[in-house]
Amino acid sequence: MIAPDIETGIARLRDLVDEADVILPFTGAGISTECGIPDFRSPGGLWTKYQPIPFDQFMASSAMRNESWRRRFAMETQFSTARPGRGHVALASLHRRGKIPAVVTQNIDNLHQASGFAADKVVELHGNTTYATCLDCAKRHELAWVKERFEADGRAPECTCGGYVKTATVSFGQAMPEAAMRRAEALSASCNLFLAIGSSLVVWPAAGFPLLAKRSCARLVILNRDPTDFDDIADLVIRADIGQTLEPFVVH
Ligand SMILES: [Zn+2]
Repeated sequence: MIAPDIETGIARLRDLVDEADVILPFTGAGISTECGIPDFRSPGGLWTKYQPIPFDQFMASSAMRNESWRRRFAMETQFSTARPGRGHVALASLHRRGKIPAVVTQNIDNLHQASGFAADKVVELHGNTTYATCLDCAKRHELAWVKERFEADGRAPECTCGGYVKTATVSFGQAMPEAAMRRAEALSASCNLFLAIGSSLVVWPAAGFPLLAKRSCARLVILNRDPTDFDDIADLVIRADIGQTLEPFVVH
């Protein structure tokens, strides 16, 4: 069912939320746009201006590593000042009520954690850009540490072990994080309401999760401004602003 208007959609969503014991939110860029985080893939988005740097180029070239960090710090204000939006806060409210065991996200902005989910309750399919890791020894490095060294000579620093240091994100050509993928699958298969929020659901393998949930007899709700390929099999589709749609579920 495609909601004819937002009020009808919210009323139906409230019924589905009340009926469900285990809700799994799956979030994409659309939940964070009201927080000032750009949707990289959208028309006019960052990735239409800059080709993203694939993982093999990052590994092969110090110039690419420097460029990667230059771009990251150019966006530092947007990431460091972003605060959770109404969608994040609504999901955190349902989490506190015991309805949401964990959230699966394609986002790298750390805003679910900032809204009140413990870090181990956020399954990040594309990693996290608010800190860095060593690609050899996996040691965590804070961005301030990287920034201080990068600003000193414009070069991407290396870990004390000599490994390359990269934001903790999953780049193009880099393997998907297996533990996160397995956890997302298990959560999808065991929820009774799957909420796809602000994702165009086109990026595989992530897009397989709503199908898996549906096959496991969960209800499927899609909140997205634009149509998706899964609208036909969804129990409810609301094509409206995400913050506006989820605001009634915020409990302070
Ligand atoms: Zn290291």
